[in-house]
Amino acid sequence: MTPTALAEIEKRHSWHPFTPMQAWTAEEHEPIMIESGQGCVLRDQNGREYLDGNASIWTNIHGHNHPVINAAIFEQLGKVSHTSFLGFSHAPAALLAKELVDLLPGGKMERVFFSDDGSTAIECAVRMALQFWRQNGRPERDTIVAFDRAYHGDTLGAASLGGIPTFKGSANQFGYRVLRVASLDALDLLTADDQSRLAAVIIEPLIQGVANMRLWPKGMLRELNAWCGREDVFLILDEVMTGFGRTGKMFACQHEDVVPDFLCLAKGLTGGYLPMAAALTTKRVFEGFHGAENTFFYGHSYTANQLGCAAALASLRIFRDEAVLEHLEPKIALLAELLAELRNTPGVLATRQIGLIAGIDVERSGAEVCLAARKHGLLTRPIQNTLVLMPPLCVTEMELRQMVLAIQSAV
Ligand SMILES: *Cc1c(COP(=O)(O)O)cnc(C)c1O
Repeated sequence: MTPTALAEIEKRHSWHPFTPMQAWTAEEHEPIMIESGQGCVLRDQNGREYLDGNASIWTNIHGHNHPVINAAIFEQLGKVSHTSFLGFSHAPAALLAKELVDLLPGGKMERVFFSDDGSTAIECAVRMALQFWRQNGRPERDTIVAFDRAYHGDTLGAASLGGIPTFKGSANQFGYRVLRVASLDALDLLTADDQSRLAAVIIEPLIQGVANMRLWPKGMLRELNAWCGREDVFLILDEVMTGFGRTGKMFACQHEDVVPDFLCLAKGLTGGYLPMAAALTTKRVFEGFHGAENTFFYGHSYTANQLGCAAALASLRIFRDEAVLEHLEPKIALLAELLAELRNTPGVLATRQIGLIAGIDVERSGAEVCLAARKHGLLTRPIQNTLVLMPPLCVTEMELRQMVLAIQSAV
């Protein structure tokens, strides 16, 4: 099939996320259709190559077409692809659960509940928190605290926590009470009634992604953790974006020596290969569900998909075998240098960075700048007028330079 014929079929039948579809289907729009990838490079239907500047919407970790992850999936394919996790188990999931909890220090994390994507990992943590208090003597604890401009996903329950109107869609505190606060200080100003109703506080640690890559003040997470400890309110960390090395450590919470009550992981879990998520939690929470009447009645058909688990195990093996985190340091330092130079470019207003995540505020429309960046061989997607640079962790120093140069030229 010719690229043009393929584009015609695509435009006639697909409906894309967060996409004004009338413009997408317009006569003159030729959609980019990715055919193959290698490392940080993606190739489209016309053979044009691009650098994957946002790690395929923040998911890819070790690059595309990685031989170790490919081999792990192939091996699993030869055995079985998916079997039910309701009433049965399998080796890849059991081993993955152990490896995940072992990544957190101190043994506080003990249990892993698998689901399919970031939103469902969040829903799982929220539902566990609410149900825990309901069946453990504090049924009045029906409220989740979320921060201004938070983003925790798009299903109704996850979107109810969101603090950005555009991303909330039609969801509004569906089925449970959400209290929104601007900062840590606001927690101390809650009324006694609100205070007594808190089940959990949820936060994107260190950096709010969708809120234009806004960084929290240093030490804030540590203080929040202490506050939750004092009040005996659960702390839910949404590390869907920050997990798996993006911030320079395996998890963002490790920068401030925090181990939460719930840790939600998704995007990078399988190295960016397959949709899979996990909500990690503690022995205390787990034991609050003892007794048949207290069972956690929640789950999805593809929970703990065997191919996904195999990919995730392979991704974790690459972290160890290729000393991925150790090799990040010089790349993070180089990105800082490149961003400092970029700030001198007319049209660039500000930059923010943590690890290999960068937000670049531009004067012009972010969408226009990203379109221009394509012509310079870079694919990424803005959040309003903030460009996002979040390459796979395997990015080379040369590729980082090319990415920033493409942005500079595009601006
Ligand atoms: C992407 C994201 C989510 C939602 O994950 P999905 O897999 O898209 O459902 C939740 N929280 C954060 C911080 C995210 O970046």
